[in-house]
Amino acid sequence: MVKIGILGLGTVGTGTVQILRDPVGRHHLLQSIEIQRVGVRSIDKPRVVDIPADLITTDLESIVTDPEIDIIVELIGGIEPARSLMLKAIAHGKHVVTANKAVIAKFGDEIFTAANQSGVYVMLEAAVGGGIPVIQPLKQSLGVNRIHRVTGIINGTTNYILTRMTVEGGEFADILADAQQLGYAEADPTADVDGLDAGDKIAILASLAFGGRIKREDVYCEGIRKISATDIAYADKLNFVIKLLAIAERVEDGQVSVRVHPTFVPKDRPLATVNGVYNAILIEGEPLGQVMLFGPGAGAGATASAVVSDLLAIVGVINCNPHREEVIDSPSTSLNPLLSCSHSHYTDMAPLTSLRSSFYVRFLCMDVPGVIGKLGTCFGAHHVSIESIVQTGFQGDRAEIVVVTHDVSEADFESALAEIRGLEAIDSIPSIIRVL
Ligand code: NAP
Repeated sequence: MVKIGILGLGTVGTGTVQILRDPVGRHHLLQSIEIQRVGVRSIDKPRVVDIPADLITTDLESIVTDPEIDIIVELIGGIEPARSLMLKAIAHGKHVVTANKAVIAKFGDEIFTAANQSGVYVMLEAAVGGGIPVIQPLKQSLGVNRIHRVTGIINGTTNYILTRMTVEGGEFADILADAQQLGYAEADPTADVDGLDAGDKIAILASLAFGGRIKREDVYCEGIRKISATDIAYADKLNFVIKLLAIAERVEDGQVSVRVHPTFVPKDRPLATVNGVYNAILIEGEPLGQVMLFGPGAGAGATASAVVSDLLAIVGVINCNPHREEVIDSPSTSLNPLLSCSHSHYTDMAPLTSLRSSFYVRFLCMDVPGVIGKLGTCFGAHHVSIESIVQTGFQGDRAEIVVVTHDVSEADFESALAEIRGLEAIDSIPSIIRVL
């Protein structure tokens, strides 16, 4: 039997225990996993899962140092004490399975370096895309491809809000408040609506796709707070939907761009059809072409499915090499490279200003003659070519002008906007959204 300690018995911890305690009809290796201890914060909290009370403890340190335990499953979330407990487990020679994207995106370097030194695995399938298998596919099944781009809808809360804004025509703040009441958004929605959660996840995917570590602070994150019902309606008229996309792509000179921002997605693209809390990840590479992975990005059962799949992978390795500790001289070289983290250098990141994008911009202007001409002149002077420019109506006494550009340099676009902001006829620029 392989003994495991589980840290956390909340949504995902409960789903994990439920799968492990009901193994019939699933992979036979599940029957060789034994839950030794479960760590929680409040011992008296009623638990929906049937688990002997003497397995549960609030002393999480005693779990990560327990000599009988082979694998620690970290499902408490957040940075601390999750990070310290994982490092302590690794130092005590235990493999780690985690669903914690925040700690991996910010401290993955420290955690994977420690794991390689100790000759243990840190597995994180559940950290991105919930139940969608994407981590192991990027490491293994798709690993022979030269990956060009990974584009994901990887935050269920924002996709739920944008989908409802599209279907109902409501404003962001009203739908967020409703989503919070229904339990689809946290009381503090910052990590989701400001794109930070998607930023953590795309940093992890970029690291796997491009084989180098990513500094989390180099990931550009722009959320959906400024998206209005007006923009959603314009997107619809122009044959787009607005999605919060997380994008990692190889650009010129081998550099990598990793970013999260709301994006106009043409309605005929597969990502445009991913609605509600669902997630999808489009992977483009050579020679494979395109693969899109789609499924439930969160939830107890779906996320636990990913957690337990990682457990199975480690149990399979342990079963093939049961006396591993007696034969290891050099821990990191004894690890299976299809499961371990094999890169240690940092990826060269492209600054946002070096990219080319197409933009949708909405201006509110004084109702005076010649404004469209002035906008065209300013954009032209900064090499920003325009695909369409239309005055569509009024917001109060301000004329509303919508511009869609061709693919232009982000730096040129910024300098054009700086000049346009100084024009007397321009009242404000309520929306600037990139177009896929
Ligand atoms: P959750 O429902 O809030 O559960 C957290 C669990 O950890 C609870 O059992 C809590 O104990 C325990 N805990 C928290 N802080 C602790 C501490 N300082 N000491 C001891 N125990 C502590 O969280 P969750 O939704 O299951 O999420 C767990 C992880 O999975 C997170 O990293 C999250 O990002 C990730 N994840 C979640 C989902 C999802 O659908 N929920 C999807 C993908 C990834 P008590 O029960 O005693 O309060």
